Amino acid sequence: MKEIILIKNGELALKGLNRCNFEDILIKNIRRRLKSLGEVTIRKAQSAIYIEPKEEAFDFHEALNRVKLIFGIAGFSRALVCEKDMTDILEKSPEYLKSTLENVKTFKVEAKRADKRFPLKSPEICRELGGVILSKYHHLKVDVHNPDITVFVEIRDTNAYVHAEQIQGAGGLPVGTAGIASILISGGIDSPVAAWTMAKRGLRLNAIHFASPPYTSPRAEMKVKTLLSKVARYSGCINLAIVPFTEIQDEIANNCPEEYFTLIMRRMMMRIAEKIARESGSLALITGESLGQVASQTLPALVTTDAVANIPVLRPLIGMDKEEIVTISRNIDTFETSILPYEDCCTVFTPKHPKTRPTLESCSEAESGLEIDTLIEKAISETLYTYID
Ligand code: ATP
Ligand code: MG
Repeated sequence: MKEIILIKNGELALKGLNRCNFEDILIKNIRRRLKSLGEVTIRKAQSAIYIEPKEEAFDFHEALNRVKLIFGIAGFSRALVCEKDMTDILEKSPEYLKSTLENVKTFKVEAKRADKRFPLKSPEICRELGGVILSKYHHLKVDVHNPDITVFVEIRDTNAYVHAEQIQGAGGLPVGTAGIASILISGGIDSPVAAWTMAKRGLRLNAIHFASPPYTSPRAEMKVKTLLSKVARYSGCINLAIVPFTEIQDEIANNCPEEYFTLIMRRMMMRIAEKIARESGSLALITGESLGQVASQTLPALVTTDAVANIPVLRPLIGMDKEEIVTISRNIDTFETSILPYEDCCTVFTPKHPKTRPTLESCSEAESGLEIDTLIEKAISETLYTYID
């Protein structure tokens, strides 16, 4: 029996004139994500997208798992393809739905006719298919109000489709429809969640990581790559820039007052990130900051880091509690990696009494002993680029 994946594209339906463009980007994303599973035909019609495998051995289960993570999809189904002919629908559907129907007690049939020329009206389709199902599965009863399962029959452009399960999609907007932004990624819990949150709103991601060997180990860098590959299952591939940060940290430690270490470090990160982001086509930076979570994330502290970045800084977690962030992190499977205990460059130089109410003037004064431009140029020239899939 021939099957397809039938996709309903949710929020996309609202996008008016942009819709075509959005759907084309979504289709491109789906194609890319399913590529390694074999050849498929993907087409759109009547606010749905049809994925039709060309090969017998197509791994449907894995394909569904991947589709579940693609942003811009509200819901989808694995569906049986029938001729647009009641006899064919009645003959194939009961057998196709066997394993599902055997495990429930009540059901109903719902029919939708996108093609109004189909000779039977929706209630007639329901009655006929319901009758045949009842005659084959004697344990079943019809319950139109609260059935264990609903069997859907959709009469569409070229075929009829039958399915019994609507799977919830990842929601959001197709990655790439909102432009590109650069996530500042550490090895912690927050930044991968921030990356995922913004990819969900349609941003394609670049990533920037500051590494401070030998204070931070190669394992810490591996951890960042693992986190990004987990995010990439949703966002698609991510370009990663790894910026050497050791010299800057040493210079800060040797030339600046201790209570400003973290703030100055973050200002240096922002300055470098802005340059790298612009070079790679990003229109904004993204961080995992959450108001008040640590000393460098109080409002006065954020003002001093924002002041050095001449580019919008998106902070999707700014109003979230740690608990809410951890919940997302578990859902997207980054949590277990994030809590691995490898040193992060921020923890290495954490001051005992960090400044929580800095001013722009006091920050400038505190970093006046640094050769800021020279340090930035050197770090950028030694930055390494890789690609996470
Ligand atoms: P996270 O859990 O993301 O590490 P955090 O609560 O530990 O966040 P900080 O360490 O203060 O907070 O960092 C705040 C934000 O700054 C991070 O969410 C991240 O966006 C960015 N950041 C921190 N360290 C690095 C780093 N080594 N490389 C790149 N970005 C970083
Ligand atoms: Mg951190």
